[in-house]
Amino acid sequence: MNSLLSSITPRQSQLTESLIELALINSGTLNKAGVDNVGRLLGKTFQQTLDCTHQQVQLPPYRLYQTDGAEIEHPLGYLHLLSKRPEAPLQVLLSGHLDTVFPPDSDFQQCDWLDPQTLRGPGVSDMKGGLLVMLEALSAFEQSSLTSQLGWTVVLNPDEEIGSPGSAPILSQQAALHDVGMIYEPALPNGQLAGERKGSGNFTTIVKGIAAHAGREHHLGRNAICAMAEFITAVDTLNGLRDGVTINVGIVNGGLATNQVPDQARCRFNIRTRVNDDEHWCTQQLQRIKQLINLKDGISLEFHGGFSRPPKPLDNAHQSFFQLVSDCSKQLGAPLTWEATGGCCDGNNLTAAGLPNVDTLGVLGGKIHSNQEFIDIESLVHRSQLSTLILLQLATQPNRWIRHNASKATLQELPDET
Ligand SMILES: [Zn+2]
Repeated sequence: MNSLLSSITPRQSQLTESLIELALINSGTLNKAGVDNVGRLLGKTFQQTLDCTHQQVQLPPYRLYQTDGAEIEHPLGYLHLLSKRPEAPLQVLLSGHLDTVFPPDSDFQQCDWLDPQTLRGPGVSDMKGGLLVMLEALSAFEQSSLTSQLGWTVVLNPDEEIGSPGSAPILSQQAALHDVGMIYEPALPNGQLAGERKGSGNFTTIVKGIAAHAGREHHLGRNAICAMAEFITAVDTLNGLRDGVTINVGIVNGGLATNQVPDQARCRFNIRTRVNDDEHWCTQQLQRIKQLINLKDGISLEFHGGFSRPPKPLDNAHQSFFQLVSDCSKQLGAPLTWEATGGCCDGNNLTAAGLPNVDTLGVLGGKIHSNQEFIDIESLVHRSQLSTLILLQLATQPNRWIRHNASKATLQELPDET
């Protein structure tokens, strides 16, 4: 094995220690202080290890609608941009998220060993382990003799787990400036790479009715919850009507007391799409249902939100890059293939911006987004070796991977620098 790759093997215990340190810092998406702690720690380590430039970018706040239709704003953590050799012929974008799905009041805040190979803990797979893999691979690559051929940018974003509402514009902008994308989401549960991905959108529906006393003047009330129930039933019946489209109502709330006709109700739902045209179809269906509900006396219904991640199809450029990753994994003795998934991630956004990317280069593990999340600890080393080899292969044949439509001239233009 290449000496650069074998130099990673003795790093296992250091990587494990760093992972536990990161996992013990709560970085639920809306815990800005925690997300920023992880970002600061990693930003500093990346900068010191890789001798690269480092910028923190402030993102607009995340807006959520309450049951009464009022908007509340949640500040997001900083996005970190690290970059080296923007003048090199081939430019690689590496991306990972700092946030997890576990808020500060979750009961899942600690790490423990299920067996000597398996560490359970919040974010160990998704994706603090992946962030360390990215750092380790870049660090090994920087020791190679091929560095002049390949420059890179790392994006560490704070809001992936809520659909990257604040970081999506920066991801698109960066995608346009690079030739290939590498994202460090964990492997699929069977260890394979995610290939095609569905698109996704999140929506909030607010229904307003008319409040009244349940006993004295029930007839004067207009029940927002009942109208919402009709809306939800109508939306749910869209499931199965169009191949690959699913709609999931995930949150419902409304009403204040049983003796009051409720004048407010809210629901939040997610739509997954298979092809771009699905978005148009869904929007038409939602408008049709909205119009029907709004015909009801005293009831008004409105939507917020929209599609944030287009589907990720695999064109020829993606197929070639997947093949390179697969060949590299074969060389390392752990052959990989790829398969379609209903899940989505920032890889969808990079694809939509035209950047071929593989988005499951992180660690092996499972039960992500649950309090049983675990990592196969040895995958920290194996996946670091895989990414190092991918970078070396890319740098060996830069011309093969250069995208001639990438607008690298504008590399320095960044929004809202702090
Ligand atoms: Zn993730």
